[in-house]
Amino acid sequence: MKKAFRYRIYPNKTQQALLQATFGCCRFIYNKTLAIRKTAYETDKTKLSEFDLTKKIKLLKEEFPWLRDVPAVCLPQAVGDMDDAYQKFFKSGNGYPKFKTKHRSRKSCRFPSSHCAVLQDTSRLKLSKLGLVKYKKDREFVGILRHIVVTQESDGKYYASCLVETGVESPKPQPVEASTTVGIDLGLKDFIVTSDGHKIPNPRFYAIIDRRIARLQKHESRKQKGSKRRARIRLKINKLYVKKRNLIKNYIYHVAKTLLRESQTLVMEDLNIVGMVKNHKLAKSIQNVCWGELRRVLEYKSKWLGHNLIFIDRWAPSTKTCSCCGFHNSMLTLSDRSWTCPGCGTQHDRDVNAALNIKRMGLEKLLPAVSGFDGRGEGGYDFDEASICAV
Ligand SMILES: [Zn+2]
Repeated sequence: MKKAFRYRIYPNKTQQALLQATFGCCRFIYNKTLAIRKTAYETDKTKLSEFDLTKKIKLLKEEFPWLRDVPAVCLPQAVGDMDDAYQKFFKSGNGYPKFKTKHRSRKSCRFPSSHCAVLQDTSRLKLSKLGLVKYKKDREFVGILRHIVVTQESDGKYYASCLVETGVESPKPQPVEASTTVGIDLGLKDFIVTSDGHKIPNPRFYAIIDRRIARLQKHESRKQKGSKRRARIRLKINKLYVKKRNLIKNYIYHVAKTLLRESQTLVMEDLNIVGMVKNHKLAKSIQNVCWGELRRVLEYKSKWLGHNLIFIDRWAPSTKTCSCCGFHNSMLTLSDRSWTCPGCGTQHDRDVNAALNIKRMGLEKLLPAVSGFDGRGEGGYDFDEASICAV
């Protein structure tokens, strides 16, 4: 099982300058090889492989001698990144790889395991050409180092992400049992509502940060472009953005941990977040609550723990169906927070009812033998009575 360990690093002045140059050269190689590949294809339909493009680095070094000043091992890695983006474009239909820009793109470079090491005893990283770099050892790891990615965040801090092969196999997924399954409804009023009635509120702390950012942006717009004062305010803004992101990340990790601790199987909707963000009315709050991030964290954490994560169709009618009898209430509007089922008379909380339906649909998907309803109006299906094992 591979795990990434991310540490804050403290390069000295010389190392910082070298890292900045390396970020620049990696960006340059990424853009150059992407352009070469594009032109080759457009002129005579030649398809250049990653290997062909890596060989071009030698020619580029002759043309641009400053490429020799940075760790040589990082440059082929940049070609690899470009190739990954290119392959993804073909496989998943993502957009065509974009050229990186100095100010907008992430500043990063990667060191393969043959040219880097983590010296945990002395809290130093050994990186090719940079030498020893101090890092903050907030946790130790056991395993084989695969590579180190060095990045600089927009607030100016440097980090090293170490990918480690831990040698521990991830546990086999536990059988799905109805009694330990929880349905999750993602909402705007509450961040999450679970089928057993727990409500996790939306994180609101970032509203203060948003206000501060807005105020600083106003100051920034009054300063002359390219001036030192403007740059100083920009850095302050970037620091706030990073702070906000970290707070949200922290919150999401906390939520994921709680959810996984309390249940063996989680069922959630397969939301189209990109599509929803296009809806501008909802856009800001959806982006803020970061469902995509929650999904990502749940996906890998459940794999580590041997838990099950089931996705149901995003168009499934989870909200308007009665979780007791299956009555379809088409009169329900977005403002109805609670309703009484005309079919069986059950009083429903809108979100808990949706979460119960999501749980039922998830179980049905895995265990087709389980039918959610005995028929309209004939009482509900009691999940806790059934204990079904899936293969
Ligand atoms: Zn009903």
